[in-house]
Amino acid sequence: MHELSICQALLSQVTAIAREQGAEVVESIVVEVGPLSGVNAELLARAFEVARIGSCAAEAALSIDVPQVTVSCLSCGAQSHVPPNRLLCGACGGFRARIIAGDELNLRRVELQARHLPATARTAVAATAMAAEKGCGAGIDHV
Ligand SMILES: [Zn+2]
Repeated sequence: MHELSICQALLSQVTAIAREQGAEVVESIVVEVGPLSGVNAELLARAFEVARIGSCAAEAALSIDVPQVTVSCLSCGAQSHVPPNRLLCGACGGFRARIIAGDELNLRRVELQARHLPATARTAVAATAMAAEKGCGAGIDHV
């Protein structure tokens, strides 16, 4: 199952971030799944319920953001939101449109509970920025 292997990649990324931050427990995870990413958000959420068992994210809340598909027109330069099955310029109807949003599969945010701090102290980590620094900002690997 496609979504399950993506969950496993997601969880190993989350686990690496938690370890780096010295945290034991992951409280919440936010991922961004574009309609054109080839990943079904609903199946991903269901797969996550299975994949997270026994991981540091076993109790974590997963939220999935589904961004709108946005294209940039190479003919008239307009940017428009379009349905995933109709990638035409919203302004002039041109078909020479480049996708600028909607095909992403990204780990956006991880909220961790620090090991040596009281349960109320929480650290939010901008996971995407950190991943970018390490040169692996391209998102979650498709396995
Ligand atoms: Zn156009």
